[in-house]
Amino acid sequence: LMQLYQPLNMLGFVYREIRQGLTDMEQMFRLMRVPAEVADRPGAPALQARGGEVVFEEVQFGYRPDRGILKGVSFRVPAGGRLAIVGPTGAGKSTISRLLFRFYDVTGGRVLVDGQDVREVTQESLRAAIGVVPQDTVLFNDTIRYNIAYGRPGATQAEIEAAARLAQVHDFVLRLPDGYDTRVGERGLKLSGGEKQRVAIARTILKDPRILILDEATSALDTHTEQEIQTALRAVSRDRTTLTIAHRLSTVVDADQILVLVDGGVAERGTHAELLALGGVYARMWALQAEQHEAVEAV
Ligand code: ADP
Repeated sequence: LMQLYQPLNMLGFVYREIRQGLTDMEQMFRLMRVPAEVADRPGAPALQARGGEVVFEEVQFGYRPDRGILKGVSFRVPAGGRLAIVGPTGAGKSTISRLLFRFYDVTGGRVLVDGQDVREVTQESLRAAIGVVPQDTVLFNDTIRYNIAYGRPGATQAEIEAAARLAQVHDFVLRLPDGYDTRVGERGLKLSGGEKQRVAIARTILKDPRILILDEATSALDTHTEQEIQTALRAVSRDRTTLTIAHRLSTVVDADQILVLVDGGVAERGTHAELLALGGVYARMWALQAEQHEAVEAV
């Protein structure tokens, strides 16, 4: 029996290691609501990332065959350009970001990054080119340092701090009991939503992707936190192609192009000024939010 015990003990160790690894992966997956259903085409080359141009060509998609979610969505974001996607809950905004990341394959049309169909390149190279700042960041049960460095394994302390500064989170970290060695996550220090989001932004700054997906928080933040986050978001989106899933119209004013998505189709598109002048769905959303003064889900 003792002969069996040693390997079993070892197995227990490996099991725990794997469990922690799985927990982290589960968290990542839950965060992105990822199914593991797409596979690399055999022999697929790596994405040749250049400026980070993103093109959706007549994209159709449904999570189930009997229910279409995107019904022919087209847009082009030039390298370094800023697109904001607005629309009611359930319109398909997050679905667009999931298709760009190729968590699912389109059922019609194409998604292109720098002219390459995302189905024709390795997922690893595609995902290396895209950074995501999700609405609800799930932190790993590890140190703040680990959570930021995750964006670029092997990053030096100086690089980590530089990213944290840009993300407006460095001073906050210095005030923690163990600084960058402070353990966070479910079993460590609990951070607020705004703090977690700035950690996610620091992580993305380190990753340095050409393309950025920002999923704005729906919850209302206090003015100070809001300003810090806006500063951090400006730092991370500078010189990158940026797709923002916008819940607050106040943050879309600066976008080069706004896409108004209604029921899986593009109802309107244009700049803020153009859409206001149009006097349609966007103009009504804007008037409604201006009335309510506060961050609300666009309806
Ligand atoms: P938005 O981001 O605009 O609120 P989503 O893209 O998240 O909208 O969702 C669009 C539609 O797709 C919704 O009706 C939603 O219920 C549905 N949906 C989202 N994710 C899934 C999923 N994993 N499986 C099935 N349906 C989904």
